[in-house]
Amino acid sequence: MSNAFFKVPVPKNEPVLNYAAQSQERAEIKKQIAAMKSEQIEVASVINGQTVYTKKVHKIRPPHELNHVLGTYHQGNSQTVEKAIKAALVAKKDWENCSWEHRAAVFLKAADLLSGKYRPIINAATMLAQSKNVYQAEIDAACELADFFRFNAYFMQQIYADQPISSPGVWNRLEYRALEGFIFAVSPFNFTSICANLAAAPALMGNTVVWKPSETQVYSAKVIMDLFKEAGLPDGVINMVISDPIETGNVAFNHPDFAGLHFTGSTRAFQSMWQTVGANIGKYKTYPRLVGETGGKDYVIAHSSANPQAVGVALSRGAFEYQGQKCSAASRAYIAKSIWPAVEKQLLADLADMKMGTVENFGNFINAVIDEKAFDKISAYIAAAQKDKNVKVIAGGNYSKKEGYFIEPTVLVVKDADYVTMREEIFGPVLTIYVFDDKKWDNVLELADKGSPYSLTGALFATDRLVIEKAAQALRHSAGNFYINDKPTGAVVGQQPFGGSRASGTNDKAGSLLNLLRWTSPRTIKENFVPPVDYHYPFLKK
Ligand code: NAD
Repeated sequence: MSNAFFKVPVPKNEPVLNYAAQSQERAEIKKQIAAMKSEQIEVASVINGQTVYTKKVHKIRPPHELNHVLGTYHQGNSQTVEKAIKAALVAKKDWENCSWEHRAAVFLKAADLLSGKYRPIINAATMLAQSKNVYQAEIDAACELADFFRFNAYFMQQIYADQPISSPGVWNRLEYRALEGFIFAVSPFNFTSICANLAAAPALMGNTVVWKPSETQVYSAKVIMDLFKEAGLPDGVINMVISDPIETGNVAFNHPDFAGLHFTGSTRAFQSMWQTVGANIGKYKTYPRLVGETGGKDYVIAHSSANPQAVGVALSRGAFEYQGQKCSAASRAYIAKSIWPAVEKQLLADLADMKMGTVENFGNFINAVIDEKAFDKISAYIAAAQKDKNVKVIAGGNYSKKEGYFIEPTVLVVKDADYVTMREEIFGPVLTIYVFDDKKWDNVLELADKGSPYSLTGALFATDRLVIEKAAQALRHSAGNFYINDKPTGAVVGQQPFGGSRASGTNDKAGSLLNLLRWTSPRTIKENFVPPVDYHYPFLKK
């Protein structure tokens, strides 16, 4: 047992490397990409530190280069999930009793490994298998993930330091226990950092985890498991299962020791999980914690006083970075008529300059969307818009899945502010714009607030201070992350805690103290130094 109050180093955001021509990082990542393309990896579930191969294998291909094979992944089944749950429950005792500074040390070491030798590995895996350009991979897989680890260790210390007051003769204490049972982490394809954090945040707080990554993120998921191992995470603390989502959910949600769900993904998937948990509530030993960060229909709203160039750039970056496959991506915009010509000019100039293609050519800003299902869904929205008389396609509109799942950044201008692409999450490179009469500002605030069921991110552009103040109030519940004169994407750990409400999730703010609180169950301890030895209270005396 330690005999001192240790302090976690004060975290700083990991510096983002720029990969400029001739830079060392550029040479390193190019070498790493070449190495990964010259070999084929095998990815499989990892249970209690052991890799579990199966006979059911699938090929891993870069979404932007479909005739190349990066490797294969082995798909498990319900027995794989059962084994993973068992391993998590066995590992639980030692891990929750492990003192907090040692748990913190594992993840602080993982962060340092990411800043160093794992940086090109995790970035190249994310670039190749999730089709991210080098900068998008760097801000996600290396930097945001290192930030999650360092900041969470710091927040954990802050939580543990929070203690109740005591009265004379009594010492009150609060102990922050792990939850009883296992945590089920289910992650999306689009952010390597989010995927790792969904498993790591509960583990940091002393929980053990069964983690199911998306089948389109398994390459970088393997790198994450390698990283955890090298950082010294004991076997069984995080068990990765690669298996069918419904089959996995059926086992996890029917288990009496299911203690919590840490989910990021679509609203539809989270709602179906919540329903299953609700139906099974009598089966569990404890009320499970349900944390879900889900979809978005993120807006940009620009007042006539806004700087049109800034609005144009916020739209081109905010809507199209990573092909619009960010939960925070700008996908609907309301622009005042008086500034629209200048905004349109800037936006179209940016789009005309953006190149689309593989991730290996660093000149490409746009790469492929994740898979055929996403391609078909997104292109169906575009095809329907092209046939609609009330919609004008002012940029893009072409798509092809011959060599990779490529969709041009597409901008729709609609006459109807309630058109389907103004309401539904498309999760691809499609931005819909509604140009409004400057005098209708109040109505447009209402549209931004109520125009979709989501409430994740939103960006207000204006220079008139009173307009900013009133709009920020009117839009209070429209976004969990609200930006003034900035694009609605790019939240940084420790700076803009991330998450939304309404159909966008439980708003437990990933990468913040608030999120970690969901993974602990406090025990209050009252110690009485002078217990009474006579039952009589003074008022009973004559
Ligand atoms: P998805 O919902 O299709 O899949 C997410 C994960 O859930 C995958 O691992 C999938 O296999 C699993 N899954 C799906 N249905 C399931 C079920 N019934 N039972 C158990 N597991 C199930 O999402 P995706 O396409 O991977 O990611 C895109 C979505 O994620 C978008 O809606 C996006 O807005 C959202 N997202 C939200 C945030 C946020 O912070 N709010 C961040 C990233 C992504």
